[in-house]
Amino acid sequence: EEKAAKEAAASGAASTSGPTIFEKIISKDIPATIVYEDDTSLAFRDINPQAPVHFLVIPKQRGRLTQLSKGNEQDEQLVGHLMMIASKVAKQEGLDQGFRVVINDGPQGCQSVYHLHLHVLGGRQLTWPPG
Ligand code: 5GP
Repeated sequence: EEKAAKEAAASGAASTSGPTIFEKIISKDIPATIVYEDDTSLAFRDINPQAPVHFLVIPKQRGRLTQLSKGNEQDEQLVGHLMMIASKVAKQEGLDQGFRVVINDGPQGCQSVYHLHLHVLGGRQLTWPPG
């Protein structure tokens, strides 16, 4: 728990310059539990899970898209692909009773790592609205 908090804080600190923690996961410089990988995307378990199943889906290209709100038409295919991978891996993880896909964007969205990522949460009854 303490380790998770420290690593999360470190990722926040690295969010404005240099490679993000996710780019270090892509390059395998830091370990992660990878649940899916293809040419353009990677999915791995969140280090601080908020549900029994909590994984992140990210594009592999460095610096391609820091956050959803920076995207343009050229990113449509990529964002669509990430969404489909979220669903595919949710199925692989046995989330047949439902799940949630979340993108936190910017400070008010509570984004802490500035490399686009989809959160996929499931394995328990989720509540609405989020905090
Ligand atoms: P955000 O707050 O930007 O939407 O989400 C960032 C997520 O990345 C958080 O849920 C946080 O727990 C996760 N995270 C931060 N650092 C690491 C790490 O080093 N490894 C993994 N697997 N997840 C991380």
